[in-house]
Amino acid sequence: MFGTMRAVPYINTYEEALTRFNTTTPIRGSNPVRRPLGNRRHKHLSIDKTEDNSIQLILYDTPVVTFKPDNTVVIAPKQWTSAFTCAFISGVLRGVHGRHQRGKLVVCVNDEEYVVEKNAELVLERVDTSGWKECTHCGDDVHIERWSRGYRLCLFCGEEAARAERQSWCVIQEYGKGNYQFVTQTSATTTLKQTNQKHLRT
Ligand SMILES: [Zn+2]
Repeated sequence: MFGTMRAVPYINTYEEALTRFNTTTPIRGSNPVRRPLGNRRHKHLSIDKTEDNSIQLILYDTPVVTFKPDNTVVIAPKQWTSAFTCAFISGVLRGVHGRHQRGKLVVCVNDEEYVVEKNAELVLERVDTSGWKECTHCGDDVHIERWSRGYRLCLFCGEEAARAERQSWCVIQEYGKGNYQFVTQTSATTTLKQTNQKHLRT
């Protein structure tokens, strides 16, 4: 049924997407200009570049997959998701699998499933599993395993951040009879208001 997807190329990076866009001759006479993605006879599959230099992989008129210059990939199914949309996503993104469930898109990445609501988008970042990433604070190396667990700070900056977090905790006052209650600064106002247990205020 989705045999045309076999002609769709895997695209791994923004650079690959950009190169493909730049080297694909537009379909003659197409207006607006349309560049095919894969087989030139499959006019419902196309590739385009936006004003911010993002590369869109388009199914019919919907840019389902967008490669951003910062190497993030946005999956945006728009209004509704069909099996065709899912096959398209699975077809162009290696290691990403799309399926649909009651009209919603479910994207499977790294054995985790993400439901993408209508008009919502899922942003992915391709991680080079052989290497290191940069700490978003100091630029030092963050090992890829740490990065893929969601950390964006190196061990040192991560520890500093944790320490800063601990320092932002403070003891407000003794709570009723008994133990001290630890509250964070953001919750301090509410906690103080509610310390008088006979007159709870909000
Ligand atoms: Zn750091």
